[in-house]
Amino acid sequence: MAGLMQGKRGLVMGVANHNSIAWGAAKALHAHGAELALTYQGEAFGKRVRPLANEIGAKLLIDCDVEDIASVDAAFARIREEWGGLDFLVHALAFSDKNELKGLYADTSRENFSRTMLISCFSFTEITRRAAELMTTGGSVLTLTYGGSTRVMPNYNVMGVAKAALEASVRYLAADYGPRNIRVNAVSAGPVRTLAGAGVSDARLMFNYQRKNAPLRRNVTIDEVGGAVLYLLSDLANGVTGEIHYVDSGYNIMSMPALDELKV
Ligand code: NAD
Repeated sequence: MAGLMQGKRGLVMGVANHNSIAWGAAKALHAHGAELALTYQGEAFGKRVRPLANEIGAKLLIDCDVEDIASVDAAFARIREEWGGLDFLVHALAFSDKNELKGLYADTSRENFSRTMLISCFSFTEITRRAAELMTTGGSVLTLTYGGSTRVMPNYNVMGVAKAALEASVRYLAADYGPRNIRVNAVSAGPVRTLAGAGVSDARLMFNYQRKNAPLRRNVTIDEVGGAVLYLLSDLANGVTGEIHYVDSGYNIMSMPALDELKV
């Protein structure tokens, strides 16, 4: 099954370090022959991402902050200049003020609500639009979400609301771009220990709770998430669009804690 992405070029946004979910995706895509470009958010991350880019032979490494639309435009102009087209895109980025990833959702401020929605949700629409302009013969676009979109997760708060809107965006974008043979999907990952994940209060507790109560009785790895990203971006998933695909050891199907946990 090697070489699923042979001859394809794609952009992966959201690698911060070797723990990032985007890095799990980049490794899987590279292992299957894709040529990759990476973006990073500012020079502080650039220093960490450069050696990772070298590891996978990604020559195109672009500074891009999605809050600054000029930097998004510059990133896509660069891709157009270097490659002329694009086959796939991974959007694996999110942000919210960690002071509001605890306590009550009801206390979310207007400012952080808007900022969270812009970075974690609307950026996907803006980026997909720009990517689609480069996908003249079709393509595949993917974002990362979390089950806090459909069920209440303590402390996930405004990020859960942003992920719900992000998942709705996946469906609307899939309908918009389907006639142009551009597929739009999301992977809903279980908790992973990353920089963004650590921003949610009591993250360790949630991580352990899901490990103990998911059907597989373990957490997922970035390589497992990367495998699902690879499938959805590859031609194996040519008939799949508008889908929210869970990679969470099955946690989302449970309606109550595991009995072995309740009995201890
Ligand atoms: P991470 O910290 O490794 O990656 C988050 C990325 O977002 C970083 O690279 C950061 O630079 C980027 N980012 C934040 N604000 C940005 C901005 N303004 N412009 C450009 N980039 C910006 O964490 P991660 O957990 O790998 O997160 C990747 C995605 O996976 C996020 O959408 C996250 O919500 C989602 N996700 C994470 C988990 C988890 O438990 N870690 C679970 C499900 C989904």
